[in-house]
Amino acid sequence: MNDDWTNKVGTRMNKAGTAPMTYLSGSGWVDRPTTYEPAVRGDVSCDVVVIGGGLGGMAAALRLAEWGRDVVLVEADVCGWGASGRNAGYLTPTLGSDPRILQRCYPDRVRGLYRFANNAVDFTEKLIESHGIECGYRQTGNVAAAPTAAAFRRMVAHARPGKRAVVADAGQLGIPPAFPGGMHIKVGGVLNPGELSLGVREVVRASAVRAGERSPVRRVVDSGDSVTVELAEGRIRARQAILTTNAFTNELDVAPRHLSTPVWVTAVETEPVSPELLDAAGWTSRAPITTQHLVMQSFRTTSRGTIVFTTRSLQTSRRPRADRMPDQRVVDDLVRGFRERFPTLADIAPARAWGGWIGLTPSNLAVAGQATGRISYSLACNGHGLPQAPYLGTLLADHVAGQGMHDDLSAVWRGSRRFAPGIVNPVTLRLGWLADRLTDSLDRR
Ligand SMILES: Cc1cc2nc3c(=O)[nH]c(=O)nc-3n(C[C@H](O)[C@H](O)[C@H](O)COP(=O)(O)OP(=O)(O)OC[C@H]3O[C@@H](n4cnc5c(N)ncnc54)[C@H](O)[C@@H]3O)c2cc1C
Repeated sequence: MNDDWTNKVGTRMNKAGTAPMTYLSGSGWVDRPTTYEPAVRGDVSCDVVVIGGGLGGMAAALRLAEWGRDVVLVEADVCGWGASGRNAGYLTPTLGSDPRILQRCYPDRVRGLYRFANNAVDFTEKLIESHGIECGYRQTGNVAAAPTAAAFRRMVAHARPGKRAVVADAGQLGIPPAFPGGMHIKVGGVLNPGELSLGVREVVRASAVRAGERSPVRRVVDSGDSVTVELAEGRIRARQAILTTNAFTNELDVAPRHLSTPVWVTAVETEPVSPELLDAAGWTSRAPITTQHLVMQSFRTTSRGTIVFTTRSLQTSRRPRADRMPDQRVVDDLVRGFRERFPTLADIAPARAWGGWIGLTPSNLAVAGQATGRISYSLACNGHGLPQAPYLGTLLADHVAGQGMHDDLSAVWRGSRRFAPGIVNPVTLRLGWLADRLTDSLDRR
């Protein structure tokens, strides 16, 4: 993990744009905070140290403080400035795999996994409400859009709609006709993730949690009777530790090998679009959309009157750099995908791009467990961690505080410390992208 605390900003003339775009190395949703909690220096001791101050780590630290534990939260940069503050802002009860594959691979666990995912959305809604965090949350639900007519026919044939989900065509859902139809999942919605994350950061700052920012952890050692956390200028001794370091988890030797594959996700935001143009594009419901591709695409409107679209083209790297800038090739590809689905908005210019690192687990599902006797970990990312990371962090904190294991924690608990290597690498990501484009083009013939 690099120690560059500045935000890089650049402008580039993209193929798809008529005006230069701004590229950001930080979040596009909020400005970077200008004041920091003091870095950890010297010898510090506490009951529990939480390493990684995303939504997962902040929620874990807050819960431990509620249980009366003396807790230190250490964050390499600013709390909430990782994936938590940069994502697309979809609060959904979605899991990282197709329901039919999950049913086949985990017949005994699938019910518990869906319960975990649904409860995660409820938990995060309550987190926002109970702390009065202003993050523009709109309870719109989300539309899982079929990318092709054939995919929509399959969706209609296999879907089990209920009170919380309906399958309908584009006109009925109020989404652009370039999507033949989809499933409206009436749970969750969208928000500004930067405002949520920095809002939770303020809750942490006002709590009994001792937070240290700009404090990258170099090494964590479990000596049997305590845990020692080594930093550049300090050392923390704790009875227990929790790792919530997401895409950076495998940089710590103590983490189970193969637990997290770092994947870079890019987001693009357009210039403001008028309501009349959105209506003319067929997006009358303004419902946030994700596509059912192998690598999904997402499109949502924002309170700034802009459209944000993400994913589609993923990248991976052995060593994630926190200050990475978006890649122009990927931005161009995302813009192409936007133009295909929103042809009437061809004159709307892409204005800004940013990205963030997510950690994919080998199963593509949230997971928690013990790295050693005194060190626990949780990794709830896989692109759905906005609700799942804070919920899982909280459940793990309860467990560490001796409050037993909640059924939802059992649903994602991993007894073994061994993980098979994940299948995500530059080749499989490229193949997934090609398969998605092939499906799109076959259907258009
Ligand atoms: C572009 C993009 C779009 C996404 N869209 C969505 C979405 O719409 N919905 C959804 O549910 N999810 C989405 N996600 C995923 C979601 O953002 C994450 O799953 C979630 O934020 C994970 O939270 P976290 O706390 O586990 O990790 P993070 O927010 O990444 O926090 C981990 C923290 O650990 C710190 N850290 C790492 N190593 C160390 C170390 N050695 N020492 C100290 N600190 C360390 C990092 O600096 C970081 O702040 C998206 C992600 C991206 C990047």
